Amino acid sequence: MSYDVIRQKLQRGRVVLLDGAIGTEILRRDLTWADHQLKRRPDVVRAIHADYIAAGADVISTNTFQLTRRAFLNHFKDLDHLRHIGAPDLETRWAELLRAGVELAREARAQTAGGRPVAIAGAMTTLEWCFRPDLAPSPDQARAEYRETVEVFAAAGCDLMLVETVNSIGEAVAAAEACRAVGIPFWVSFVCDQQGKLFTGETLEQAARALDPLEPGAVLLNCAPPPDVTVGLAELARHRTRPVGVYPHVGRFNPPEWLFTDEYPPDRYLELARQWVALGATIIGGCCGTTPDYIAVLKRGLSDEP
Ligand SMILES: [Zn+2]
Repeated sequence: MSYDVIRQKLQRGRVVLLDGAIGTEILRRDLTWADHQLKRRPDVVRAIHADYIAAGADVISTNTFQLTRRAFLNHFKDLDHLRHIGAPDLETRWAELLRAGVELAREARAQTAGGRPVAIAGAMTTLEWCFRPDLAPSPDQARAEYRETVEVFAAAGCDLMLVETVNSIGEAVAAAEACRAVGIPFWVSFVCDQQGKLFTGETLEQAARALDPLEPGAVLLNCAPPPDVTVGLAELARHRTRPVGVYPHVGRFNPPEWLFTDEYPPDRYLELARQWVALGATIIGGCCGTTPDYIAVLKRGLSDEP
């Protein structure tokens, strides 16, 4: 299986490259984010995955941000209201889109990887808004919802789960337990603040300790600016028992879209990535605002392989 190769690379202390952004890359290619473009423009989504594979990514992540039953239900008063006024397929659309997201990643790999092992990570985030831990459901509720979501990802053929932009230990543990119950390897990636803490005030040391018994394949930081993940990584690396990594964002959040800025062009990003590797990171990629160019520059500048 593709993940075994990644696991072995990490065990040898080699750098594993994750992909860059998908959502903001769709925007950059002059499309809206509606329906994740999984049904309207599958060609564009597939091409973005292919570009990341060609750039050298070892792991690509699916274009499935917050595709959950809850995300659709949240637009309505309750389930009866959804059934009463919603489009006919709305109750099952999350799962259908998840399967489409995994399939596009698989197609891109089949067409582009050329025999190179590339793992497909099912991208799954918080059940409510990723910057609002105060909205999170109870751990029991979260575990059940994550489980039904992870089951769809696993059945569709993901090699691992990437639980990303997680903002609390409680939700991270619930997601990790769901992945273990389904029997799929998983990485957990937290969003951190300027002090390198979770938005709940919990520390990354506490987060690493809480996850450790659940045997995550890696613990990472994402969707915060480079200086913030650098602070967080220093803390995480001090307490690591698993491989660690980072994939910060570049630019500014401009809801619901993204403001692209030139604060961290690819060459500067590479300089930072060398610092992250020096701090102990073995998984590097990019979050919102990064492009296939960033991954290509990391591949040329960080990789110890041809
Ligand atoms: Zn992001």
